[in-house]
Amino acid sequence: MRFTRLRLNGFKSFVDPTDLVIADGLTGVVGPNGCGKSNLLEALRWVMGENRPTAMRGGGMEDVIFAGTSTRSARNFAEVSLQIDNADRLAPAGFNDSDMLDVIRRITRDAGSAYKLNGKDVRARDVQMLFADASTGATSPALVRQGQISELINAKPRARRRILEDAAGIAGLYQRRHEAELR
Ligand code: ATP
Ligand code: MG
Repeated sequence: MRFTRLRLNGFKSFVDPTDLVIADGLTGVVGPNGCGKSNLLEALRWVMGENRPTAMRGGGMEDVIFAGTSTRSARNFAEVSLQIDNADRLAPAGFNDSDMLDVIRRITRDAGSAYKLNGKDVRARDVQMLFADASTGATSPALVRQGQISELINAKPRARRRILEDAAGIAGLYQRRHEAELR
């Protein structure tokens, strides 16, 4: 599963539609302080189903919507779209007939988040499971936040086990068992 394109619209500082093609190999994002490098990584985490506003450096999830500046008014929605190469057919049943997956998350002020997978409405859980089964997702240890290394060193055993489960790609199974036990 390879990410091939990230599109942002009204997400944090990316007020105008922005289209980033992710080429093969290593990609570096460089720029002065405050230009939006961390916002890009947060957009990636957000479209994969991140639900903790603190992980987005905000007080509430609506804080991801462009809040306006002295010259531009605030937006009413934010949208992030992630295009994935699905040549290895890792997508869930029903979405595996296509070589490309397109995951879209949109948040509207006062209306919360909505997700689409290849144009079909899906739940946050469906998107989270899709990425968990591919050993990635909003909590993937591959996405390293500032301060996260010291958090890892100081983590309690249970929290450290979660990181290993994510890496092993069994976080989705764990979630399904939890849901089965609740039924
Ligand atoms: P550094 O090099 O310091 O780590 P960076 O390139 O990672 O900087 P970011 O933290 O991604 O920069 O971007 C911060 C900028 O995004 C700030 O200017 C902040 O005002 C802006 N920003 C964050 N949220 C919003 C929002 N909801 N609306 C408008 N601008 C926002
Ligand atoms: Mg940064």
